[in-house]
Amino acid sequence: KSFCRELPKIELHAHLGGSLSRSTMLELKRLYADAGIADQTNAFFDEFQIAAGDSRNLSQCFQVFSIAHSLTSTPDALALATTLTLAEFQEDGCCYIELRTTPRETPDMSKRQYIETIVQAIRKASLNLTIISKLIISIDRRCSPMAAEETSDMAIEFYKSYPDIVVGIELSGDPTAGSFDDFVPALSNARKAGLKVTLHCGEICNPKEVMQMLDFKPERIGHGTFIHPRLGGTVETWDALSKLKVPVEICLTSNTDDKGVFATSLSQEYLICAQTFELSQSRLARLALESCQFVFDENSRKPLTDKILNFIEIKQL
Ligand code: IMP
Repeated sequence: KSFCRELPKIELHAHLGGSLSRSTMLELKRLYADAGIADQTNAFFDEFQIAAGDSRNLSQCFQVFSIAHSLTSTPDALALATTLTLAEFQEDGCCYIELRTTPRETPDMSKRQYIETIVQAIRKASLNLTIISKLIISIDRRCSPMAAEETSDMAIEFYKSYPDIVVGIELSGDPTAGSFDDFVPALSNARKAGLKVTLHCGEICNPKEVMQMLDFKPERIGHGTFIHPRLGGTVETWDALSKLKVPVEICLTSNTDDKGVFATSLSQEYLICAQTFELSQSRLARLALESCQFVFDENSRKPLTDKILNFIEIKQL
């Protein structure tokens, strides 16, 4: 366990709203109380985290995001949530993170202010933290094609203003909602402008969509749970993934990516991986090393590789 924490790790699939720990949420509640903001989360706060052994279906999981959302509805709360979350990832031994989030309009901020707040929080955090932090803008598949294009335009605008922070665009949200075709124009525009693309793909059984997504040739995909023929995919989906060699952001615990909701951490996910597949420390460190090639920020690839190689050398792995 301590090895998994100590190992320098790369986090490529973390939704801000799903990553809020219990202690971060308590800080946010305190901030609301101090600012005299009504906190509507009291009744269901304890339902946010899923305890070990508890099972929840996908739609129940999506309901809990509303709790995180109601605690991050002002710029101050959103900035605090971002800062505390980045610090927690660093504390867990993460040396690089691509945090992802869906721009959200609230009574206190526009979608543009939402992104600006997070970009500035990342900027400030990087003065005090050693973790390298980047941002991926999410398109929610429950939104209309037009709203997706608006999000994509905004992502392009922020990418141009902050190329050192904004690195990519992604498609996520309830996998039973929307259709991938509807989002192709928005994603293509972002890609043309230079943003890298990752897609939630094969999160539920939908081989036709998996094929459409792989045809789009995203730089990475998330989950990929239903791609292998024995796990709800088809021979075609598995062949396509194997041929294209698209890296998969695997989320082991409960097929997820939300350390807050599922009360897990990246080092815990490494531990589960080691135990399940009987991997040695050396193999685990090499897994972390391999992930360096797939970070969206190309300038970070070499320094991250050197950092993990250095760890491997010191530990004589
Ligand atoms: P946010 O984008 O920072 O608000 O983070 C929460 C959002 O991430 C949710 O409302 C979903 O749209 C998305 N999300 C989190 N976990 C998952 C998942 O496992 N599958 C698909 N989308 C997810």
